[in-house]
Amino acid sequence: MTSVELAVLALRVPCGFCWAPPGTTCAEEGQHLARYLRAYRRGLISREMMTSACLLLPAASAGQLVTEVMGLAPGTEGGAW
Ligand SMILES: [Zn+2]
Repeated sequence: MTSVELAVLALRVPCGFCWAPPGTTCAEEGQHLARYLRAYRRGLISREMMTSACLLLPAASAGQLVTEVMGLAPGTEGGAW
């Protein structure tokens, strides 16, 4: 699974931080971590995926924006996950 596919899964649930409805992005740069956590609680995202995502974040807080590339350079997606 790529980071983009992970972001798509997060988009399927409403954001618990800024209340963006499903299908609407939180910000241009990405989604809030709270949204990923919600998708995780619903079983859309595995624990391993959450761990990988959190490792790439500068800080783990609900309002932390998770960018779609999550530190991966363009073109390298797919190999790391
Ligand atoms: Zn949000």
